[in-house]
Amino acid sequence: MRKIDLNNFQVATSETVRDINSRIMLNLVRKHQPVSRADLTRYSGLQRSTVSAIAARLIAERWLKEGAVGNLPRGRKPTFLHLNTERCGVVGVDIQPATTTLAVSSMDSQFLAQESMSTEKDPVEFIARLSRRIKDLMRAHPRNSYEGIGISLPGRMDSSSQQLIFAPTLGWSDLDLKTRLEHAIGLPVELENAANACALAELWSGRYMDGVRNLVAVTVSDDIGVGMIMNGQLVRGSTGVAGEFGHVSQMSDGPKCRCGNSGCWEVLASNVAAVRYYAESASVRKGEVGSKSDMAKLPFGDILRLVERGDARACKALNQMAHHLGAGIAMLVTGLAPDVLVVVGEVTRAWDKVGPIVTEAVKRRSFTHAATRILPTDPEAQPRLRGTIALVLQNHFGAPLTA
Ligand SMILES: [Zn+2]
Repeated sequence: MRKIDLNNFQVATSETVRDINSRIMLNLVRKHQPVSRADLTRYSGLQRSTVSAIAARLIAERWLKEGAVGNLPRGRKPTFLHLNTERCGVVGVDIQPATTTLAVSSMDSQFLAQESMSTEKDPVEFIARLSRRIKDLMRAHPRNSYEGIGISLPGRMDSSSQQLIFAPTLGWSDLDLKTRLEHAIGLPVELENAANACALAELWSGRYMDGVRNLVAVTVSDDIGVGMIMNGQLVRGSTGVAGEFGHVSQMSDGPKCRCGNSGCWEVLASNVAAVRYYAESASVRKGEVGSKSDMAKLPFGDILRLVERGDARACKALNQMAHHLGAGIAMLVTGLAPDVLVVVGEVTRAWDKVGPIVTEAVKRRSFTHAATRILPTDPEAQPRLRGTIALVLQNHFGAPLTA
């Protein structure tokens, strides 16, 4: 049960009841479509007349559409309802340190188009170029309307000021990306940390998530991010920066981290860590081509390719990374006991090797018997980008704020 927040509440009106029932209906259609009014009556427990009235309103507002006519052995044939995917489009932007991916999606989270651009070091120039690209993309894919822009990025925003306050991999700080983009494009912008966006993507369109209320997403790339959904809600913490487990030091005399700390989980278990382990294990003989500093610039994908070919040093480097990844995940499983923990990132391509080491580390270090399922996500499913669409759609499909 949630305590009523006397600083942020909304008293219930007849409009509140209508809004809640409409959203329940919208979600039932989303889950069961195509679906008849009779089935919606059964699923919701509402009166048939109430279901018909809500359906009529959602059709008038163009959220729902009537589709095929069902076939029953006798009686009136039902008309099935489904979401009106034409109603609006959503723009999604996934900002990563080197590359930014843009996409337009329909209301059912299907991508209609996507493209990428380089991420500039200067945020002001980047915003100007991104705005132009978004406008061009919307022009090339005209919809009845665009509902908003969802953005995921490797950083944390202050929840009250919306200022970007912590983004070490991008090198941007004290920047109000949201307001600048809203002014440039004229659409509402929802900005979210990449790990939070991945957690939302799983919650809204994950494959295993029916009935899951406690979920943790761990994004592993050049950094490590953690997004937490507890009791069905994103955990933001004080000023919106909760989840920075990547910058909790695991080894006080470990390598220096970008955040200024030493031995952070991120410097031990991210992609960059695996590349460093690989370079450190090199024994370059006199006259041999290639040096440790060259190897430290290898893309993580190359390490994975070497692992596939059975390269012993690359396998060892990946094992070291997996061991540290498992140690941190054990901390999350023990401390938060989520129903599901999803791992996002290129490392999932080698999950047949990494997964057992992580599972073993969790088994060895966690004594709580938390029944957490640890699942890799498919990189092809683009969880970061899917999360940006969920950011915008949850405004319509999520539970409204009440008491
Ligand atoms: Zn750090």
